[in-house]
Amino acid sequence: MAEQFRNYIAGEWVAGATASVNRNPSDTADVVGEYAQADAAQAKAAIAAAKRAFPAWATGSIQERANILDKVGAEILARRDELGTLLSREEGKTLPEGIGEAARAGQIFRFFAGEVVRMAGEKLASVRPGVDVEVTREPLGVIGLITPWNFPIAIPAWKIAPALAYGNTVVCKPADLAPGCAWAIAEILSRAGLPPGVFNLAMGRGSVVGEALVDDPDVTAISFTGSVATGRGIAAKAIARMAKVQLEMGGKNPLVVLDDADLPTAVNCAVQGSYYSTGQRCTASSRLIVTAGIHDRFVAAVADKLKTLRVDNALLAGTDIGPVVDESQLDVDCKYLEVGQAEGARLLTGGERLQRATDGYYLSPALFTEASNAMRIAREEIFGPVACVIRAKDYDEALALANDTEFGLSAGIVTTSLKYATHFKRHSQAGMVMVNVPTAGVDYHVPFGGRKGSSYGPREQGRYAAEFFTTVKTAYTAA
Ligand code: NDP
Repeated sequence: MAEQFRNYIAGEWVAGATASVNRNPSDTADVVGEYAQADAAQAKAAIAAAKRAFPAWATGSIQERANILDKVGAEILARRDELGTLLSREEGKTLPEGIGEAARAGQIFRFFAGEVVRMAGEKLASVRPGVDVEVTREPLGVIGLITPWNFPIAIPAWKIAPALAYGNTVVCKPADLAPGCAWAIAEILSRAGLPPGVFNLAMGRGSVVGEALVDDPDVTAISFTGSVATGRGIAAKAIARMAKVQLEMGGKNPLVVLDDADLPTAVNCAVQGSYYSTGQRCTASSRLIVTAGIHDRFVAAVADKLKTLRVDNALLAGTDIGPVVDESQLDVDCKYLEVGQAEGARLLTGGERLQRATDGYYLSPALFTEASNAMRIAREEIFGPVACVIRAKDYDEALALANDTEFGLSAGIVTTSLKYATHFKRHSQAGMVMVNVPTAGVDYHVPFGGRKGSSYGPREQGRYAAEFFTTVKTAYTAA
C-alpha cells in the first residue's frame, strides 16, 4: 500500500476528505504516495486556523521568526539530495535539476530569515512644524498561496518564506499533480517551532481548495503561479472582493541570436533555455529569433546538439531531459506538433514519443524551423520540449518580433555587440532580460516577474517581495 500523506491544519496532521495518487512520470508503475485532498470545509478550517494565529505571529518576536526560517532553510539544504530526488520522482526533472531546485528552496528560506531582521521603515520631517512622519510596513493577514507543479519546491518556498518572514499566516495549496515537495516543506515547518495555525497545508483540487481560498473574505491576499486562464479567473474573483492579488503566469519567451553571436554560446543558451526541465518552465525560450547571417549555422548546430541529448528516466545518471509531467501535458505537446506542421513550419528534428525501460511520458526535443511569429506555435505557451526558429533580417526586426507577444516574462539576446546588448536591455518589453545567458535560470535574491500577460501585481523574490506581503502605514506624531 502506498504511503499516506495528510494535510497540516492548526498544528495537526489531518486526513483529507479523499486522497489522490501521486505518480512518477518517468515510471508510471511507481506511486510516490497518496496525498490528502481537502474539501471546502477543510479548506475553511485551515483559513480559520491561520486567522486565529495571525495576531500573535504578526506582533511576536522577530528573532523567533528569523530563527525558524533559518532552521527550515538549513534543513532543506542539508536534505537537498533526498528532497531533490523526491522532486525528480514526482515531477520528472533530472536529478541534478531536482537537487538544484531543492537547494534553491533552502537558500530562499535563509534569505528571508535575514530579511526578518532587516525590515526597515522611513522617518521623515513633516511639512507641519513639530510633527514627525513615520512610514512602516505591516503584515497583511492570512495569505492564500496557490502553486503549480513545475517548480514544486522552489515556488512554494518563494511564497511561504516571505509570507511568514513579514508576519503573515499562510494556507498553502500546492498543485495536485506534484504535492510531495510542498508536503515535505510542511513537515519541516511542523518541527521548526511555529505556533499552530501559522502555516497550514491544504492539498486538494484547485477547483475546490483553490477556489475556497480565493472566495473567502478572511483570506486577505492571494499569491498565485500557474496558467494564464486560471490566473485570470482568480484575479477577477479576488479583485471583486478587493483582496490583494499577485499572479505569475505564462511566457512565450524570445531568445534573439544575432549574426555576431558566439555560436557555442548561442547553441548552449537555446538548448538549455528551451529544452532543459523538459521545456516546462515559464521562462523557457520557445521562440528562437535568429538573424539571417547566422541562421543556417545556428539551426544545424542546435539540431546536432539535440540529437546527442539523452531523454530518459529522470532518476538515471546521464539523463539530460526527463519525461513530460503527465499524459495530458504530453497530449498538449503532441497537439502543438501537429498544429505547427499544419501551419507550415518545418519539424526539423524530434517530436517523437519514446519508449524507455520504464513506462513514462517521453518526448524527444522538437525543433521547428521556417516558423513565423504569427503562428500559434509562436504565440501560445506550449510548456513542453518544443521550440521554433523564426528568421529575422536584422537586429531591428528581431527586437520587434521579440516584443510582438502578449507575454513579457523573460527575453534573451546572444551577441558580442555592446551596442545591441545595451539597446536590447533598454527596449525589451520583458520583466527579465538576459544577455548571453539562457532565458531560464534566475537568482533567488532579486525580483522575479514579468510584464503584459505574464504577471500581475508586485514582483516576487528578493527584497521586492515586501511590496506584496506587507502593507504600508504612515504615522504622524506631534511631540
Ligand atoms: P494551473 O493554472 O493549472 O494550476 C496552478 C495552480 O492553480 C494549481 O495549484 C491548481 O490546482 C490551481 N487551480 C486550478 N484551478 C483553480 C481555480 N479555479 N481556483 C484556484 N486555483 C486553481 O497551472 P499548472 O499547474 O498547469 O502550471 C503550469 C503553468 O504555470 C504554466 O502555464 C506556466 O507558465 C505557469 N508558471 C508560471 C511561472 C511564473 O512565475 N510566471 C512559474 C512557473 C509556472 P490543481 O493542481 O488542482 O489543478
